Amino acid sequence: MSYKLNKKLADLVPYDPITGHYDIRLDANESCFNLSDSLKEKIAKSISQIDFNRYPDCLAKAPIKAFSELYNIPEELISAGNGSDELISIIEGSFFEAGDTIVNVSYDFSMYEFYAQLCEVNVETYQKEADLSIDPDKLITFCKDKGAKGLIFSNPCNPTSLGLNRASVRKIIESLGDCLIILDEAYMDFWDQSLLDEVDNYDNLIILKTCSKAIGLAAVRFGFAVANRIITNAIRAAKSPYNNDTVAQTIVSDILSEKDYLKECCDTIVANTKKLYSDILAVNEKYSCFDKIMEPCTNFVFIMTDRAEEIYRFMLENSVAIRKFRGAIRITSGTDAENKRVIEILDKFFSR
Ligand SMILES: *Cc1c(COP(=O)(O)O)cnc(C)c1O
Repeated sequence: MSYKLNKKLADLVPYDPITGHYDIRLDANESCFNLSDSLKEKIAKSISQIDFNRYPDCLAKAPIKAFSELYNIPEELISAGNGSDELISIIEGSFFEAGDTIVNVSYDFSMYEFYAQLCEVNVETYQKEADLSIDPDKLITFCKDKGAKGLIFSNPCNPTSLGLNRASVRKIIESLGDCLIILDEAYMDFWDQSLLDEVDNYDNLIILKTCSKAIGLAAVRFGFAVANRIITNAIRAAKSPYNNDTVAQTIVSDILSEKDYLKECCDTIVANTKKLYSDILAVNEKYSCFDKIMEPCTNFVFIMTDRAEEIYRFMLENSVAIRKFRGAIRITSGTDAENKRVIEILDKFFSR
């Protein structure tokens, strides 16, 4: 007899993002702004004061306070994770039991299904409309038909860049009272339909936020879950005690308290994305080359095209990394100069 990996692990492969050197990275929806020298100095000073021999604060009180002040949410409704990724894993692994069904939607963030499978939670996938929008009534019916104990989706959506308005999301939450709604607002800083300040009205809602996108701290690994007190206490109890290290807690507290800086970055990213979108529309005017270009509520543009693979390769040859899907590409909005380069390369590709 020899040891064998179980079925759920046997075919699993490590996450494989684009590696190698590319001059321009527009594949992971990160912020295009690194921290300024003065913010780096502020962080360095705070880090130098850490007692490195001590365990971190289990409840990440300092970053939670900073988040609470930035978004105007009571601290008792907030828990912290090692990236939203860890929170997704904790929530799917502890709010559901093996064999329970949760619903995700397609297209959406692939990690929802990944962690669910590891927890032996059954996943039923709701297919969006042909225009990639979600019909709330159809989604509600789908969840009821499947006896879903949970529903998880991103709003605005990664990768489609489309958003569902507040009223529609409220209707979904209210119509599925015995189903836990996990609403991932990773990109909501770039749009204006957040339900964060209504979270305490619901006993079946968790909103996820990340520091990896608008906040510009993808290197640090920090995310937040916002929910009523009962759910928040359950998340705090289910997570590993020291999931957020002191270095990360320190950096996140320092940056989340920089309200003006964060707003300025966010405004610039939104403006750059609008410009990138309209420049891509112009490329399409010139060459009629794309099937559909989504109007983004996010910091990236999603384009339907049957030449996704070719465009992706051509971009890489020109040292620009973007993301490809079956029949689509996703381009993160970068700096002005980076976006200009993207348009030049697209123009070169289609003029051949
Ligand atoms: C990028 C992203 C996240 C962030 O995950 P982290 O683990 O916090 O970096 C979460 N949800 C969605 C939909 C994302 O696109």
